[in-house]
Amino acid sequence: MKKIKINIDYSKCITPENCRACINICQPVVFVLTFTDEDYHDPKNWKIVPIFPILCIGCNLCVENCPEKAINVLIK
Ligand code: SF4
Ligand code: SF4
Repeated sequence: MKKIKINIDYSKCITPENCRACINICQPVVFVLTFTDEDYHDPKNWKIVPIFPILCIGCNLCVENCPEKAINVLIK
């Protein structure tokens, strides 16, 4: 079975709630947008998380469409 690792560079993905390109392009719904703190009004607390990497089909569309080049998909 293939192993898929999806990394997001959070130093590049700074305002995911305004972007969402990876969420919108990923058909199997690997990513979710969530917040990491109680204050969800603060954009710094929002994060894209590849919560279901097992669903990834390795299409690479998220990598190609991320405007910040923040996503890396590694398939072994
Ligand atoms: S490579 Fe394709 S399936 Fe995998 S996370 Fe990216 S967009 Fe989704
Ligand atoms: S496409 Fe890139 S910059 Fe946009 S939310 Fe996803 S990881 Fe962040």
